[in-house]
Amino acid sequence: MSPETSARLFERAAAVIPGGVNSPVRAFSSVGGTPRFMVSAAGPWLTDADGMRYVDLISSWGPMILGHAHPAVVEAVREAAGQGLSFGAPTAAEVALAEEIIARVAPVEQVRLVNSGTEATMSAIRLARGVTGRRAVIKFAGCYHGHVDALLAQAGSGVATLGLPTSPGVTGAQAADTIVLPYNDLDAVRDAFAERGSEIACVITEAAAGNMGAVAPLPGFNAGLRDIAHEHGALLVMDEVMTGFRVSPSGWYGVDGVAGDLYTFGKVMSGGLPAAAFGGPAEYMRYLAPAGPVYQAGTLSGNPVAVAAGLATLRHADESVYAALDANATRLGGLIDDALTAEGVPHRVQYAGNLVSVFFSDDEVHDYAGAQAAQTWRFPAFFHALLERGVYPPPSPFEAWFVSAALDDEAFAVIEAALPDAARAAAAVQAPA
Ligand code: PLP
Repeated sequence: MSPETSARLFERAAAVIPGGVNSPVRAFSSVGGTPRFMVSAAGPWLTDADGMRYVDLISSWGPMILGHAHPAVVEAVREAAGQGLSFGAPTAAEVALAEEIIARVAPVEQVRLVNSGTEATMSAIRLARGVTGRRAVIKFAGCYHGHVDALLAQAGSGVATLGLPTSPGVTGAQAADTIVLPYNDLDAVRDAFAERGSEIACVITEAAAGNMGAVAPLPGFNAGLRDIAHEHGALLVMDEVMTGFRVSPSGWYGVDGVAGDLYTFGKVMSGGLPAAAFGGPAEYMRYLAPAGPVYQAGTLSGNPVAVAAGLATLRHADESVYAALDANATRLGGLIDDALTAEGVPHRVQYAGNLVSVFFSDDEVHDYAGAQAAQTWRFPAFFHALLERGVYPPPSPFEAWFVSAALDDEAFAVIEAALPDAARAAAAVQAPA
């Protein structure tokens, strides 16, 4: 079926919204073709404006671990909305969400709720600077922490998809305080601290990288970051916006047990509505206004409807949900691996917990240079063959695939049926001259 309605909507959108989308990767820039405009979603399925149904392997870029329109979450949202949409005053539900997060992630004693992952990382960096009185920040190439000015340098996600080194509009001064190092390279971190240690406020890292594809930290990397940062009086900011409450009940912390100093959360804890958080021990969080001098605020922060969606999602995310997420990731990765192996396509299916991605590469990928060196030119054909057969993967080779616990045998049958053709399409692509 040709996506006629989506094509018409995309044309209309392009006239009034830059690039026709409100977040760049949605525009299909790196895979070409018409972005699908969605009208509804239920469980593992998305339905577009032309009535085409897709197995969703993006899960709204992470939040929808229970699947779409989960009855308990929808009911919680309805109930909260009926009580009033926003008060600009504290509520009991915000306290409950903070308590739920803190109960799951042991190093976090206090959290501040915000509206997006970008706000969470921006605020965590400001707090780290306020606590240490220092200005410089270490980040890793290929890691994405939202569109915070200082963190856009060599970023993953849409910045990688569009091949941007950084972004116009970010001033030299903002970029000068950012030190970009290769992921999984502790020697580079040691060298940077040896050179500028007394200026460095914090190291920010994705607890496991998911924005250059799924690239787990090598054994000892996160612990090494913490030790080196602490030797020099700097903080470690663990960005768990993507991994938090997805890869285990307590996020990546539940996988490797390495405690960061500050944490950022988003996606799953919002249940699909705009909410996010940052947190850490009280000794650091007390620097935040009104308890302390580091300013941070938000008109809609702790919005009661978003909080209700997040709380309902976390309360339903029990052991069986995490077991299903892990099993579904392994099942998906296995099917991709089998199909590409059958066609002789060089590839690596990689996991970071239950984040999955496929690199068209013979070598395992440990950093952004490795992700960029893969045969990304095979991806558009692979992607479109899947899309045409009712499977909706991320429209970029630099994004992780997000499973939900709602993927069932019917959904997997569609994936399994689509993959052999997609693998053939990937195999048939000629290398660019
Ligand atoms: N940090 C990480 C690790 C992310 O993956 C993202 C978004 O994908 C962000 C921060 C930014 O979150 P948001 O898009 O909600 O601003």
